[in-house]
Amino acid sequence: MRVAIIGSGISGLSTAFYLQKADNDIELLIYEANAHLGGTMRTVNVDGFLFEEGGNGFLSNKPDMLQLVEDCGGSHLLMRSEDAARRRFIYTDAMHPLPDGPGKFVATPLLSLPQKLRVMGELFMPAKRSDEDETLQSFGYRRLGKAFTNVFLDAMTAGIYGTTADRVSVQAAFPLVARLEQEHGGLFKGMLARRKKQAGPGGVLMSFQGGTSTIIDHLYQNIRAEWHLGKPVEQVTRRAQGYDIQAAGQTQRVDQVIIAVPAYAAAHLVAELDRELAEQLDRIIYSPIAVVGLGWNDLDHPLDGFGVLTTASARLPFLGVLWDSSIFPDRSPNGMKSVRVMLGGQREPERVNHDPETLIRLSREGLSSALGIDAEPDAVFVKRWPKGLPGYPVGHIAAVDALMARAEHHPGLHLTGNAYRGIAMNDCVRNGRLTAEKVAAFKA
Ligand SMILES: Cc1cc2nc3c(=O)[nH]c(=O)nc-3n(C[C@H](O)[C@H](O)[C@H](O)COP(=O)(O)OP(=O)(O)OC[C@H]3O[C@@H](n4cnc5c(N)ncnc54)[C@H](O)[C@@H]3O)c2cc1C
Repeated sequence: MRVAIIGSGISGLSTAFYLQKADNDIELLIYEANAHLGGTMRTVNVDGFLFEEGGNGFLSNKPDMLQLVEDCGGSHLLMRSEDAARRRFIYTDAMHPLPDGPGKFVATPLLSLPQKLRVMGELFMPAKRSDEDETLQSFGYRRLGKAFTNVFLDAMTAGIYGTTADRVSVQAAFPLVARLEQEHGGLFKGMLARRKKQAGPGGVLMSFQGGTSTIIDHLYQNIRAEWHLGKPVEQVTRRAQGYDIQAAGQTQRVDQVIIAVPAYAAAHLVAELDRELAEQLDRIIYSPIAVVGLGWNDLDHPLDGFGVLTTASARLPFLGVLWDSSIFPDRSPNGMKSVRVMLGGQREPERVNHDPETLIRLSREGLSSALGIDAEPDAVFVKRWPKGLPGYPVGHIAAVDALMARAEHHPGLHLTGNAYRGIAMNDCVRNGRLTAEKVAAFKA
């Protein structure tokens, strides 16, 4: 059987790996628009500083990425984040440690006493009767109060999705949170119940020696395929048996095709095949995000923690800053320090259009006000993602169910990727594995 995979991000590569594991005789053709593999997972070396264009790692509390790493013989490449970098900060009007336990929550100046009591009242709040989709903001206001939502949930949503709590669906983007209410009657009750059941630590941020590109390279070494790099697929069309893949003036006939590209790119690929599916795909919205990396040979600031998230009220030019060299020390040469600044998102979408110099200036101004860092960086890096992260608004789950049902009209055509059922690397790997199972089980 000949199978084409379009897109070589972690979704496409994990699908390829598991497909080959399921059936070693499958002939794989992998198409990638860029000259390099990995999509948003890419590490760039600037004078010895390693900057990630996208995410710096994945959490160990979901099994998928760790399992993939083990399955492909890459466990020796893993890198655990530093324990000293567990401390997180939140910036409202100043830097505040993010309270990570009940004692610290009681002591934090981030909320007043009545606001804290309102949060604790969640324990006695009845659960919502319907499972109707709602925004994270509406969920937060209902269960935890406005103040908590506008500080903690606002910062978290910007940090993970580059969006705002009033835009994102709690069911689609934070399914565990929604489940805790549905299954246990509330967040605190749910967390207590889960703590009793699950021994051991929650999740630790994991990555790879030398950055996320390391696992991408390792997967490349372990996938046997006909690689078509630097060849954007232009169109996928149906034949009596299978599909035609058109790229760089050539057409290849395959039995099945897996589209593992962003939804707007997938829309373009299937435009001729199925206009309705293309329109459904095109309706998936994306948040723009810019990443600025700064490295210093000799920085006089401890950067003792994980980093800082900001709230909308903070009036800082960025969503957050990751203290990269404190989290994974190999990200900067010996003793040197580096950070990555995230700007834009739905909070300030126009930021992504700024030129690199402006983004660096804004980052430095923000670092000066929030952390007192004024030193000139010795290494700089900028990556702009005009369509960085899919949005997961209210209605997302229903929209994805509908478009997946529509895709089923085309036997042997599969959609996978971060636009549908989870954006984290773990989610992409899980959906890649599930897609591989479907492809392997497919009978033409
Ligand atoms: C700034 C940022 C920070 C993040 N931080 C984290 C984090 O800390 N932890 C975490 O778990 N996740 C993080 N994520 C999310 C996670 O990294 C992504 O969701 C995931 O890597 C997406 O993988 P993918 O394969 O689905 O898509 P992509 O990585 O987007 O890959 C899709 C590929 O398809 C290719 N393509 C597009 N069109 C075509 C075409 N016509 N023909 C051929 N190829 C095509 C693209 O070039 C690309 O290589 C972050 C994302 C971003 C942007």
